[in-house]
Amino acid sequence: MLNIVLFGPPGAGKGTQSNKLVETFGLVHLSTGDIFRYNIKNQTELGKLAQSYIDKGNLVPDEVTINMLQAEVEKYPEAKGFIFDGFPRTTNQAIALDKFLEAKGTSISVMLALEVNEEELMKRLLLRGQESGRPDDTDENVIRNRIKVYNEQTAVAARYYEAQGKYHAINGIGSIDEIFNRLSSVIVEKSR
Ligand code: ADP
Repeated sequence: MLNIVLFGPPGAGKGTQSNKLVETFGLVHLSTGDIFRYNIKNQTELGKLAQSYIDKGNLVPDEVTINMLQAEVEKYPEAKGFIFDGFPRTTNQAIALDKFLEAKGTSISVMLALEVNEEELMKRLLLRGQESGRPDDTDENVIRNRIKVYNEQTAVAARYYEAQGKYHAINGIGSIDEIFNRLSSVIVEKSR
């Protein structure tokens, strides 16, 4: 299997690049943010629980997120591989994901970290908020908190993959195609 962790701060372009990677490499895309938003829209128990965290720009508790992610993976027994987008967001989640994949006889192939500076992130998220109406993208304070949470709780998870020799930093500034080519060349190299 080819299992990719697409990592990076909010607004780094994980969703955009995932869509292109899915087409090219035939993988299943799992975005924890998308799954939470789907559950909020449908007012499920999970959605109600997650909403209060998401509205403030905080992380949903690990246990809830990990269980949800595992249940999603189980829905695709025929998958050639997965793109994990927005997961893991803490070292605990990374450890849980490794254990879970190991039990299934597979593992993470590569972790790709999109790097974008804060000024550019802010610009992109405010623009996305205007277009998509995502409530967590329209409030500047919520965006700032998400970037802060990323720096304090998520960025450290990169070290976990670095220690395994799986971490690859990718310049996330440029055209969509340029960034896609940077990601693809690492993936092709890794899947040889
Ligand atoms: P972005 O990457 O633009 O911040 P996402 O769509 O990935 O947005 O996630 C939106 C929100 O969902 C996050 O701010 C967080 O509250 C919650 N969330 C998503 N993934 C996770 C995760 N792995 N762990 C905890 N909370 C998460």
